[in-house]
Amino acid sequence: MVNLSKEVKVSAETLKDRLVDIRRQFHRYPETAFEEERTGEYISALLEKQGLEVNKNVAGTGVVALLKGSQEGKTIALRADMDALPLQDIKDVDYSSRHPGVCHACGHDAHMAVVIGAALLLIKYRDRVKGQVKFLFQPAEEKPPGGASFMIEAGALENPAVDAILGIHTNPYLPVGSAAFKKGPVMAAADLIHIKIIGSGGHGAAPHQAVDPIVAASQVIQGLQLIPSRMVDPLEPVVVTIGRIQGGEKFNIIPREVELEGTVRTLNPRLRHEVREMIEKILGGISSACGAQYELEYIRNYPVLMNHDEITGHVIEASREILGEDHTVILEKPLMGSEDFANYLERIPGSYFFLGVGPEEGSPIYPWHHPGFDINEEALPTGAALMAWAALNLLEKL
Ligand SMILES: [Zn+2]
Ligand SMILES: [Zn+2]
Repeated sequence: MVNLSKEVKVSAETLKDRLVDIRRQFHRYPETAFEEERTGEYISALLEKQGLEVNKNVAGTGVVALLKGSQEGKTIALRADMDALPLQDIKDVDYSSRHPGVCHACGHDAHMAVVIGAALLLIKYRDRVKGQVKFLFQPAEEKPPGGASFMIEAGALENPAVDAILGIHTNPYLPVGSAAFKKGPVMAAADLIHIKIIGSGGHGAAPHQAVDPIVAASQVIQGLQLIPSRMVDPLEPVVVTIGRIQGGEKFNIIPREVELEGTVRTLNPRLRHEVREMIEKILGGISSACGAQYELEYIRNYPVLMNHDEITGHVIEASREILGEDHTVILEKPLMGSEDFANYLERIPGSYFFLGVGPEEGSPIYPWHHPGFDINEEALPTGAALMAWAALNLLEKL
């Protein structure tokens, strides 16, 4: 297999110009969540031309393509998300977004190009594929509840049943040529809280005749910080952030109500459940002390993204073979961001990892969701080779 890994890597390099063209085509014509029509058409036409069995319009704009290997075996899925962000592109390059106010600023254009590249490689090495490989192009990662759950509902993991799934995300802080991996929890569960504190309005000069929801809300915001600081084991990560507070009309009027909105992040499914109860308890206690009422809406968005240890182990091994030991990074810590890839991992085992897309030395690094975000396109063949090699190897080992 050593020679084959070298061959796959060389083949991926020869695909580079093509993958760059494909990625730039996505980048020029970005589409936001659930509107990836042109993107879906482009992918299905390309893969149909390659002779794959293609299912279009899965969960709206999604595409599922199937490659049957020359030997019987299990089924591996490779997933790419398709959506761009509602953001104005500020880059001055020939592949800048042609759609005003829409931009691929999270690298999903690269994910699609990488999975297409893996498909082209696996078609080339079909005689070495022991089983099937499914290519999942999924809409709407950026917009909860996310496209993944709709893809699952639409049967993307069935017929043939998928035994393991791999997903990739660009990382501009990781040098090009490398990839990063982690077993166990990789990304957090992200829930949305919407709180209303209801008092009774009145004159700012006579607070004793009113119930002031602004004072109550300020105590609730402080009180919620007891969750990470005093209520949860300090060795368990948890974030409670209030990102929006709204209430009041004028400096001398006590308003009737205040609205708060925030996000709760956890890495432990049990704790995720408990934090909701803690919020309820704090809200109840403070509201009652202030004589106010409250309403809590708790919306569960993406679950904890939990990588499968054994499969991640195989992918790490595959990365060491194809990218080399020096370019295979093991992450020490998970991230508190979230990803709807977690929905697939609640159903079937798999692994989610990061592809280095860091810029050339001296160029600035823009974070994800920044209007100047870009990728180093040298990463496209690297990602394609890694995905294809990991799939080939997993099919041998599962
Ligand atoms: Zn994003
Ligand atoms: Zn993303």
